[in-house]
Parts: sequence; C-alpha cells; structure tokens
Amino acid sequence: MTSDLVYSDHYTTDTRDQLLAKIEAHLRPERFAHVQRVEQTAIALAKQYGADVEKASIAGLVHDYAKQRPDSDFLQAISDYRLDPDLANWNNAIWHGVVGPEFIKRELGIYDEEILNAVRYHTTGNPYMTTLEKIVYMADYIEPARDFDGVAEAREMTARDLDLGVAFQTWHTLTYLIAENKAIYPKTIETYNAWVPTSGLVK
Ligand code: GDP
Ligand code: FE
Ligand code: FE
Repeated sequence: MTSDLVYSDHYTTDTRDQLLAKIEAHLRPERFAHVQRVEQTAIALAKQYGADVEKASIAGLVHDYAKQRPDSDFLQAISDYRLDPDLANWNNAIWHGVVGPEFIKRELGIYDEEILNAVRYHTTGNPYMTTLEKIVYMADYIEPARDFDGVAEAREMTARDLDLGVAFQTWHTLTYLIAENKAIYPKTIETYNAWVPTSGLVK
C-alpha cells in the first residue's frame, strides 16, 4: 500500500518505504498486509481524534514487528535485557507486544516511548493510555479485514467515542479468553478494571 505521508526524521531516520522494507523482511505476507491495514486505520483515527498522524503510521506499522519470531528469541531477550522474569511464563500472544519494543529499539532504531508503549499495550490494553495508544489498540481490533461477531458494533462505537471502543474491546477480549479457558495476563484484568465498570457499556 502506498502513502503520501512523509516522515519528519523525529521518530525514525528511515523513510516510510525503508521502514516498510525492514518490516516486510520479518513478516509473512498476510501479516505484512495486516500491519499496513492497521496503519491506515490508525491514521484515520488519528485524524479524527487529533493524534499525531506520523506516530500513528509508525506505531501501526511496527505493532506486530516481533509476532513471527521464535519463542527462543523472546526468552533470550527477557533474560538479556533483565525484563520481569514472570514474562518467561507467558507466550507469543503476550511477548510480541510486551517484549516486541526491545527488538524495535535495537533493530529499527525507534525509541519514542509513546510509540513503544502503543506496541506494549496493543494486545492487553493498559489502565492509562494516551490517545495514540488507544488508537493503535483499536485499529488492530477493527482494521478492515477483521471479521468477528461484534466487529461492526466495535467500528461504530470507536467512530463515535474512542473510550467506548476501548471498553468494548476490553470486555469482549476478556469474555472470549474466559470462555476459551485461556490464561489471563494480569494486565488484561487491570485494563478491564480501569475501563469496563465505569464505561457506560450496556450489555
Ligand atoms: P494480532 O497480533 O493482530 O493477532 O492481535 P493481538 O495482538 O491483539 O492479539 C494476539 C492474541 O493475544 C489474540 O489471540 C488475543 O486473544 C490474545 N490475548 C489477548 N489478551 C490475552 C491474555 O490476557 N491472555 C492470553 N492468553 N491471550 C491474550
Ligand atoms: Fe498483535
Ligand atoms: Fe495486529
């Protein structure tokens, strides 16, 4: 996908095309297409909600950068960079978001903490999120190829009220994980407690 967006040099010394090429080298074609759809969705939300469009582009493109690495890379990074040792008990679903920024910093030279936090929080959310962080969380959930029960409602709510979209996704993800007997990462519960009870979401 092409874009007329020109990067400023503030967050990466790469052009968008150079960044795309580096990301493409690490992802299978379907995943590479997904991150470009997330980018475009994040750019549209950034325009609507007054966030930085360049940061939305970069964060959308890099959010799944580490998704297709072997488990051994994550375990090595958790050890080498002295991350929370409990992380070693989790799996790719959690690692690609929480540990992914370690690879993004070192391999892509992107250090902006808001972009890195948007990646860290994109799977589990976080009790506190900036507008950009909320946008990446939602763009990943509602990008045009997403197809699940409730996606139309998720898109409609996100267009109406970004915080309501965050609450909707958070409720649905936790409910899905419980229905599937999956382990709940503690941050997922913290996000639920911060966003759902006070959201005004009606069941
Ligand atoms: P993707 O990387 O674009 O496929 O999307 P995400 O990064 O949002 O999600 C990756 C996977 O993590 C999905 O299958 C989610 O259901 C799963 N996931 C989200 N939160 C949790 C959690 O707390 N525990 C577990 N076990 N999985 C989770
Ligand atoms: Fe992801
Ligand atoms: Fe994703």
